[in-house]
Amino acid sequence: MSDPTSGTARLTVLAGPTAVGKGTVTAYLREHHPEVWISVSVTTRKQRPGEVDGVHYHFVDDAEFDRLIAAQDLLEWAVVHRQARYGTPRQPVVAALAEGRLALLEIDLQGARQVRETMPAARFVFLAPPSWDELVRRLVGRGTEDEAERERRLDSAKAEMAAEPEFDATVVNHTIPAAVQELVELMRS
Ligand code: 5GP
Repeated sequence: MSDPTSGTARLTVLAGPTAVGKGTVTAYLREHHPEVWISVSVTTRKQRPGEVDGVHYHFVDDAEFDRLIAAQDLLEWAVVHRQARYGTPRQPVVAALAEGRLALLEIDLQGARQVRETMPAARFVFLAPPSWDELVRRLVGRGTEDEAERERRLDSAKAEMAAEPEFDATVVNHTIPAAVQELVELMRS
């Protein structure tokens, strides 16, 4: 097709503060809505137990990430939590949209802003916690990060919460099934 951004109205970008449950929402969506195509990001961060290379992420080293940037193979990329690089491979997104599929990117705020520049017709959805206190509780309760890392993520979360007005719609993550239902309805509308 001649216009690589045609069909971007069927592209939804989901962002929101750290620990709001984006990963869980995406996992539930993957399981219950196979009709939605979900982008698999590349990342330089280490694989966690239970994560499958090629399913949750494509785990790559710095050299490979540099190569993807140089080849302009990434639709967007960012350093997240000052720790690792994450990016969206461009070609699979273009292909999914060309097939007319509903497509979802679950990325951070910096990435969402880049996509807004290049694909302004996409739909931008903010996943919000029921409250700030609840977000802090989820961040601490997750227990996968040490103290310094939690502090870093809380700092990021504050800045990310302030970005909500930039988005087309907000979904409040009271429960995963309800949030996914609302998200899918938005994607179809
Ligand atoms: P985690 O390391 O916990 O899987 O993800 C950390 C953060 O990276 C999350 O906020 C997630 O949205 C973000 N992220 C995942 N993939 C991408 C991507 O391709 N691009 C950008 N900009 N952020 C991403």
